[in-house]
Amino acid sequence: MSINIADSIGNDDAELIPNSSFLIPNCPKPELLAPAGNFEKLQAALIYGADAVYFGGKDFSLRAFGDNFTRDEIFQAVDFTHALGKKIYAAVNIFAHNADIDALADYLTFLEGAGVDAVLISDAGVLALAKELTALDIHISTQANVTNWRAAKFFHELGAKRIVLARELTRAEISDIKAHCAAELEIFVHGAMCISYSGRCWLSKFLTGRDANQGACTHSCRWKYRLVEETREGEFFPVGEDTRGAYVMNSKDLCLLPKLADVIQSGVASLKIEGRMKSVNYVAGVVKVYRAAIDAYFADPENFSMRDDWLAELDKVAHRPYTTGFFAGDGLPTEIYDTSKPKRSANFLGIVRNFDGETMTATIEQRGKFERGGRVEFLQPHGDTFTQTIDFMRDANGLEISAAPHAQQLVTIPVTKPVEIWSLMREAL
Ligand code: SF4
Repeated sequence: MSINIADSIGNDDAELIPNSSFLIPNCPKPELLAPAGNFEKLQAALIYGADAVYFGGKDFSLRAFGDNFTRDEIFQAVDFTHALGKKIYAAVNIFAHNADIDALADYLTFLEGAGVDAVLISDAGVLALAKELTALDIHISTQANVTNWRAAKFFHELGAKRIVLARELTRAEISDIKAHCAAELEIFVHGAMCISYSGRCWLSKFLTGRDANQGACTHSCRWKYRLVEETREGEFFPVGEDTRGAYVMNSKDLCLLPKLADVIQSGVASLKIEGRMKSVNYVAGVVKVYRAAIDAYFADPENFSMRDDWLAELDKVAHRPYTTGFFAGDGLPTEIYDTSKPKRSANFLGIVRNFDGETMTATIEQRGKFERGGRVEFLQPHGDTFTQTIDFMRDANGLEISAAPHAQQLVTIPVTKPVEIWSLMREAL
């Protein structure tokens, strides 16, 4: 398999060996925080190794087109998360208007009663409401664009426990903020980026009426643009910085895995993965990689090194070319030069719901069509990924079938190795 990540970020960046003179003794192990776009993704994130998850309710989080959680689902999510001894945070990070205030007050009170561990806030009015009405821990969202220690201190003194820093910061700036501010710091380590300051952008609203700051972004920065002169309707002139087109607005995806040792040594409390709109396959794969890498670092910091299978897994989920963004302060371009489309991921085919060790068969809940004779691989929550061919298939009534075309149908197949419950079956690329 080709490992595109190294190409994307440069071979120097792909070295994970920290400078031993730079090691902070007893550096605390950061939390791994994953997106939970719906209950199934929440389960995947936690089962594959996240310490905490963040979600949006039906209102007031910045993902209006995500599945998001109803109030009943929030109770279910809190119970599931806490039963595993992990944490769950609610995104309430819209920029509120006057008409939102009463409903926000009700929602924040509900969240406290439901038992969420913290709320993510960017708006000063929502922060004031949360402080006045609840004892919820407050995390300042990246939407608040904290880029300096004065701002971090300001929010900390206002009662925020944690600050999610803007993505547009270097390692040195993060360390400086850490040195001046006692609040917990959280940074994004993986996922899509905006060309505007962490989403404070008017592009989508201006072009389509759908406001990114109300959770309705149409990702207009990814579109391919042409120039039209007002009297020449239907004539589209190319817009190009060079022969490949225009790319200033089309950001690569962030991946700080190659900088993980440095990220940990910066002393941040939480490493966040972006992607409440992404698939179960993405959440499970990315969480598993960062879990393994963080644990490997703390098992032996001085001999920590990159593993090819981590990079290969990050290359299998849907993504644009990766960049280490602003973290290294190296000024390398973060835009994509040739396409606005993400790389296709391995098709996600199903979730292992049961494994019978006597018959060496697994029961798969279908998520994408698969057929007898197909080559598949199993991504397991803990064990190694393995590949095999589907030799035969039976439906829930035990009848032999040749294909599984129906969503969520249960299919039993023979497996060549014991397979963990909640493993993801996907096409072998
Ligand atoms: S249009 Fe692009 S830059 Fe603007 S908020 Fe949406 S994703 Fe971010």
